[in-house]
Amino acid sequence: MWLCTGGTLLSAALAMEHAVAVHLGGGFHHAFADHGEGFCLINDVAIATAMLQRDNLIDKATIIDLDVHHGNGTAAIFADDPDVYTFSMHQEHNYPGWKPTSDLDVGLEDGITDDRYHELLEQHLRTIVNEHDAQIAFYLAGADPYREDQLGGLGLTIQGLRRRDEIVYEYLRAAGIPVAVTLAGGYAVNTDDTVEIHCNTLRAARDTYLRPTAAMRRL
Ligand SMILES: [Zn+2]
Repeated sequence: MWLCTGGTLLSAALAMEHAVAVHLGGGFHHAFADHGEGFCLINDVAIATAMLQRDNLIDKATIIDLDVHHGNGTAAIFADDPDVYTFSMHQEHNYPGWKPTSDLDVGLEDGITDDRYHELLEQHLRTIVNEHDAQIAFYLAGADPYREDQLGGLGLTIQGLRRRDEIVYEYLRAAGIPVAVTLAGGYAVNTDDTVEIHCNTLRAARDTYLRPTAAMRRL
């Protein structure tokens, strides 16, 4: 867990330099300041935020948590912190039972499908990037909103999740906000599906940020 948290710190630093960095782990959003729960011991994203602030690299951060489970630990840690905007879009009727208030909580009904999910996401991202002038975003790209996830109850497809990632990247890139990505949860019946969804999070980053120029395409 310490090593994995170190990866989130590294991703945060690299994101500040390169606009995007994806860590193959992290997103321990159920960890509170004083206890861990839900497979999470220490809140890596909270620590990474504190590190960037300590090093005077940022004042404000936005946390975009799209894991199927509410980001309860993150919400509690930053409840009284106006510099960190916490956004959680999750399945309402799922763990955790007690959901401390984020700056923006969007509790989704069971079984929501790609199109409606994308519509809601875009609507809220528009507001978030315009109203909170953060110098970094942390994106928790959970694979568990997948319709065949064992711990989730939403209805997204693998392609729909890839589009979700693209939407997040497109909005942040357009707003000039660097993003550090963590993978968070994923428990598909078929493990290959979870791997594919996580790999797509990287592919979407590559395709959004490293879009080949006309000159590159000629090579
Ligand atoms: Zn989860």
